[in-house]
This record gives sequence, structure tokens and C-alpha cells, in this order.
Amino acid sequence: MTDLSHYTQYIPDETAMCAFGADLVNAICKLPSSNAITFYLNGDLGAGKTTLSRGIIQALGHQGNVKSPTYTLVEEYHLPQKTVYHFDLYRLSDPEELEFMGIRDYFNQNCLCLIEWSEKGKGLLAEPDIIINIAYADNARNISLIAQSIQGEQIIKTLQQHKLQNTL
Ligand code: ADP
Ligand code: MG
Repeated sequence: MTDLSHYTQYIPDETAMCAFGADLVNAICKLPSSNAITFYLNGDLGAGKTTLSRGIIQALGHQGNVKSPTYTLVEEYHLPQKTVYHFDLYRLSDPEELEFMGIRDYFNQNCLCLIEWSEKGKGLLAEPDIIINIAYADNARNISLIAQSIQGEQIIKTLQQHKLQNTL
């Protein structure tokens, strides 16, 4: 039996990381479009959290740069299928700043929230559908996904099917 709650993949380089972002978008687009989706992106500095976010945001149709939201805390992208809120909470010193931003309003219908350094906003963020862990493997990376909701499991199921098709 396949395990619907976990998915792992070896990511040899930056291009593969962006391509994996496109695979995630393909899986997201199979869900009802009105669903709100939240991913937590974990990994050390330089692991590739922003690179993966860029892959996702560009696969959803954004054509320009994807800036790291390190200083702004959040960057937003209004794209045809989803509004994306890309957070980087690394520099957040006081979780109250999130209350001032009206953080609860971000986790609404039809939005995809990508959150780097989610541990800094503990208790104030939406629960994730998937926790994405990125680990260094020299120049490559190992990525592992853990589903935290039924919707997260549906995304992982699509990724597993896609991987299977590519190996047949
Ligand atoms: P983070 O947001 O986790 O701090 P970034 O995405 O900003 O990390 O930076 C990742 C860096 O690592 C980029 O400079 C990218 O070019 C490089 N890199 C090298 N190999 C990979 C890989 N396999 N996947 C993702 N990024 C990689
Ligand atoms: Mg980053």
C-alpha cells in the first residue's frame, strides 16, 4: 500500500527545484480552486526554500522576479488561479507584528500561503496542509513532504502518480 502522507525526492540542482515547484502546482490545480492551501517550508539558510517558492509562483503564471520577503515579511502575487502569499518570518522579532499585519486575513479562500521560518509565527498561522523539509546533500538537496491534512494527502497522491508515470 502506498503511504499517502509522505513523499520524498532527490533534487540535483536549482533547475530541478523549480521543476518540482511546477509539479506541486500541477497537483494543487487538481483541487477545487476555492480551497485555501498552506505549506510550511523548512530548511537551513540557503537550503532552497525561496527557490522552491519561486518555482511555484512562476508555475502559477508570475513572469517577473520573486523577491525574498526577508524584509517585508510577505510578498503577494495575484495570479489567475490563486493568490499567493509568500512569507519569510526569519526577521520577525515579535509575533505581535503578525497581529498588526492582520495575519488571519491572509489564510482565506483561494489562497496559497508559502511560509518560510513558520516556527517564528507559532500559534498565529494557519495549520499547514503540507510540511516541506529541504535538506542539504552537498550541492543537491533532498526534499521530503509530510501531509498534515486530507488536502495535503491529495497533493501527495498526485505527486506519487506523476513520479510513477515518469519511471514507467
Ligand atoms: P533559502 O530560502 O532556503 O534560504 P534560497 O532558495 O534563497 O534558500 O537559496 C538557495 C541557494 O542554493 C540558491 O543560491 C540556489 O542557487 C542554490 N542551490 C544549489 N543547489 C540547489 C538545489 N538543488 N536546490 C535549490 N537550490 C540550490
Ligand atoms: Mg528564503
